Amino acid sequence: MTDPEPTHDIEAVFREKGIPFTRQRRLIWEFFAGADRAATIGEAADALRGDGVGQATVYRAVILLSDLGLLARVQDRRGEICYTAPTIGHSHPLICGVCRRVVRFDGDGDVKELEARLSAATGFSIYGHHLEVYGICPDCRRDGGAGG
Ligand SMILES: [Zn+2]
Ligand SMILES: [Zn+2]
Repeated sequence: MTDPEPTHDIEAVFREKGIPFTRQRRLIWEFFAGADRAATIGEAADALRGDGVGQATVYRAVILLSDLGLLARVQDRRGEICYTAPTIGHSHPLICGVCRRVVRFDGDGDVKELEARLSAATGFSIYGHHLEVYGICPDCRRDGGAGG
């Protein structure tokens, strides 16, 4: 093992905003960055309890990371609010609404036409977007029969 997985330079983001990147915030970030599925704040708190991170701390850190654009807020099929860490570059999550598995896809140029149309219609200069796609993964489709 040499380099860790590429992630956002999260410390730089915190530094830039003048927000301390504490040990607990790092642990919380690493939990989401290392997960292959979206998780609720409660699940993150459960997983981090052994590291001495309290639920209130997890809650505040997740909101902070979300505000900084370092975690994406998504929902499963029951409407449960979950969070997932985006990878570097322009990618978007495809989320299974049943098991919350997250597959990221390359979003380069994905909504260019829409952005151009919006820009023309509104006069906005558009610099970004936020996109999530929801579905049911092959495993869950198999388990659930025809399903929704
Ligand atoms: Zn699934
Ligand atoms: Zn995109």
